[in-house]
Amino acid sequence: MNPLSETVDVVVIGAGVAGLSAAAQIARSASVLVVEMELSPSHHSTGRSAAIYLPTYGPPNVRRLTAASAHFFHTANDGRSPTPLVSPRGVLYVADAAGESSLQALAASMGEAGGQLEMVGADEARRRCPALRPNWVIAGGLDHEALDIDVAATVATYRLDLVARGGKIRTDHRVTGLDRQRHGWTVTTTAGTISAGVVVNAAGAWVDKIADLAGLERIGFMPKRRTMGIGPAHSDDDVGPHFVAHVDMDFYFGGEHGDVMFSPADETPSEPTDARPEEIDLALAIERINEATTLGLRSVRQSWAGLRTFSPDGDLVIGPDPTDDAFIWCGGQGGYGIHTSAGAAMATAALTLGNPLPQELLDVGLRAPDLVPRLARSPRSPEI
Ligand SMILES: Cc1cc2nc3c(=O)[nH]c(=O)nc-3n(C[C@H](O)[C@H](O)[C@H](O)COP(=O)(O)OP(=O)(O)OC[C@H]3O[C@@H](n4cnc5c(N)ncnc54)[C@H](O)[C@@H]3O)c2cc1C
Repeated sequence: MNPLSETVDVVVIGAGVAGLSAAAQIARSASVLVVEMELSPSHHSTGRSAAIYLPTYGPPNVRRLTAASAHFFHTANDGRSPTPLVSPRGVLYVADAAGESSLQALAASMGEAGGQLEMVGADEARRRCPALRPNWVIAGGLDHEALDIDVAATVATYRLDLVARGGKIRTDHRVTGLDRQRHGWTVTTTAGTISAGVVVNAAGAWVDKIADLAGLERIGFMPKRRTMGIGPAHSDDDVGPHFVAHVDMDFYFGGEHGDVMFSPADETPSEPTDARPEEIDLALAIERINEATTLGLRSVRQSWAGLRTFSPDGDLVIGPDPTDDAFIWCGGQGGYGIHTSAGAAMATAALTLGNPLPQELLDVGLRAPDLVPRLARSPRSPEI
C-alpha cells in the first residue's frame, strides 16, 4: 500500500503499551493505524519496566484504572495468550529504624485504597528474605496482591487483538508534523503522510512534543529516569520469593532467574530521550542494597534505564484536548502504565469515539471528568 494515500478514522501515535492497548479497543468500531518512530514496538518505557502489578499503587484514579484492568490481566490467556499475563509474587516492604513510621503510613494508605498490608516483624521479614541483615531490618509489610506481569505477553495480546480487528501498525514512522484540516488531521511521518479524523497522542515521554507539533498547549508532563540492573549475588543467603522494596523507596530488588534485579528507585527529571543507565545510579543501588542485605552485589550483568512520565498531579490524562476534540491525550502513565493499560485503553477508546465510559469503568468509580485534560492542573500529590 502506498502510505501517501492512506486514510483512516484514527491515527494513534506511539506503539508502547498505551498506544497498542488503546488502538486495539478503538479498532472494534473504527479504522485505526498506529505509527511508531522506532523499528519495533515497546522500545521505550514499555520494554524497560519492573513488570509488577500493584493494585494499591498511585493516586485514586490510577488505582481505579488498575482495578478496571484486572479482568484483562487475569483472563487474557483464554486462548489469546499461551501463557498467563500475571503470576503471584508479593511485595515485601522493608523498614530500617528510620522507616518504621513510613511503614505505618503505607499500611494506612493501602487500607484507604481497599488493600491490605500485612505487618510483619523483623524475624518474619528475614524468613521471607533471608538476605536481610538482622541489624538493619526492624519490620516489614507484605502486599500479597502484587503480581509479576509478563509484559511481552501483555503487549503481544494487545497486538493480536488490534490486528484481529483490522487495525495496523507502522514502525519506523516518526511523526514530524500534524496539520489541522477542516475534518481531522494530515499526519506527516518520515515515511509518508496519513489523513485521519482523530489523532490519539500516546507518545509516552514525548506527549508534550506531539502537542507542539499540533500547535496545542502543553500539559506539562515530566519524564523521570529510572535505572535497573541485574547482577549475581555473592552470598548463599536467599533473596526469597518476593519483590523487596525499601519502604521509603531508596531501593528495590528481587530474584531474577538466579540473579538479582535491582534499582535505586531513582526519579531523575529528563528530557524525552532514549534513556541510558548512569554508573552512579547503579553504584548507589548496589551500595544501599548491600547495606541492607548480605547479598554482596558487586557486578552488573545487564543494566537499562527508562522514563516514567508523570502529569503535574500524577494521574493519567485521557481525553480530548480542551481546545480541539480531534486531538486525544493518552499520557502520564508514570510508574503504572502496564497495570493500568486495559482500563486506560477502554477510557481512551470511549473518549476518542465520543462514547460514554463503559460500565466496567463506571463500576470502579471512574468518571470522564476525572481523566480529561485540564490545562492548569494542581501540583502532583506525593507518591507512596
Ligand atoms: C524502570 C521502570 C520500571 C517500571 N515499572 C513498572 C511496573 O512495575 N509496573 C507498571 O505498570 N509500570 C511500570 N513502569 C511504567 C511503564 O513502563 C510505563 O508507564 C509504560 O510503559 C508507558 O507506556 P507508554 O506506551 O505510554 O510509553 P512508551 O512505551 O514509551 O511508548 C511511547 C511510544 O511513542 C513513540 N513515539 C514518541 N514520539 C513519536 C513520534 N514523534 N512518532 C512516532 N512515535 C513516537 C515512542 O517511540 C514510544 O515507542 C516502569 C517504568 C520504568 C522505566
